[in-house]
Amino acid sequence: MERIWIAGPCAAESCEQLLATAAELMEQSALAGVHLDYFRAGIWKVRSVPGSFCGAGEEAFPWLQEVQRTYGVPACVEVMSARQLELCASYGIRTVWVGARTCVNPTEVQQIADAVRGSDFTVLVKNPMIPDLRLWEGNIERFLKAGIRQVMAVHRGFTDAQENIYRNAPVWQIPIDLKVHLPELPILCDPSHLCGQVRWIPQVAQLAMNYGFNGLMIECHHNPAQALSDAEQQLTPAQWATLVSGLDLRANAADLDLVKQRSFLENVDNQLSELLYQRMVLVDEIAEIKKAKHIAVVQPKQWQEVVKRYQKHREDTAYQKFLEKFLELLHQSSIARQH
Ligand code: PEP
Ligand code: MN
Repeated sequence: MERIWIAGPCAAESCEQLLATAAELMEQSALAGVHLDYFRAGIWKVRSVPGSFCGAGEEAFPWLQEVQRTYGVPACVEVMSARQLELCASYGIRTVWVGARTCVNPTEVQQIADAVRGSDFTVLVKNPMIPDLRLWEGNIERFLKAGIRQVMAVHRGFTDAQENIYRNAPVWQIPIDLKVHLPELPILCDPSHLCGQVRWIPQVAQLAMNYGFNGLMIECHHNPAQALSDAEQQLTPAQWATLVSGLDLRANAADLDLVKQRSFLENVDNQLSELLYQRMVLVDEIAEIKKAKHIAVVQPKQWQEVVKRYQKHREDTAYQKFLEKFLELLHQSSIARQH
């Protein structure tokens, strides 16, 4: 499987900063034998706090053009509006991403999709800040319907009211479900915005590879300590190259050992699916008896007996955790059916 590596600073700060970062990235990627596919830099930054550094704006386009010319790597920037998209087109930037904040607003996303319609732009669609798979998928569909052939998803985690070691909660099930719904769509992970701190980035990047993600978008700065935004999460180009070249990349290809194990799994799933249904049918019959004989639906003692049947393999704590949830669901749906 081809991997897509995107790296570059959070924000375009100056021509010197972009060129220095790009130069080091090219040098380090050559040393590590890694191919940098896109150089990222936010030129308009959406910041929570007014007065924070907002990127250099339109002034940064010639700097990015110089990066593209000097290093032969395509630049990509974030766009939040149709107008910004048009500016990118006029400056020869052909790759853009739609950020997590914009992605909560389908009207704005549609306006960008309309502006890019029928072009050869590559469009990366970040997950919206809220954990809403349908919204993320809907945004992706807007670009696919606009005839964009190169659409990619970027997972960067979700805002979570609860304290988390990461800046954003990964909720891996959402990008995994997206992959199941749209298997042809490349999906990248942005561990920088997900983690918020350099120290968690390697483990999250590896996890994304284990899940079969197609690449990574990572923030890199030639001097992270001096970065004007997201200083705590930017890697140096050397750290980036070490990370990417050290990843254990997982293939998607079919494997004979896997095929064999999967045939056993298929057999178990078929039996399980039939058994679960049989159980539901029995529950319905029990419900009829209870109704006819005026017996209460909820019978706590009987449920304790049921739970006891699932006490095998206590040594496997992960399995016990699963069973706890499974039995709760079983009990709830059994009661619901009996009503
Ligand atoms: C970014 O990539 O620069 C950015 C702002 O990311 P996000 O939209 O994921 O917060
Ligand atoms: Mn950033």
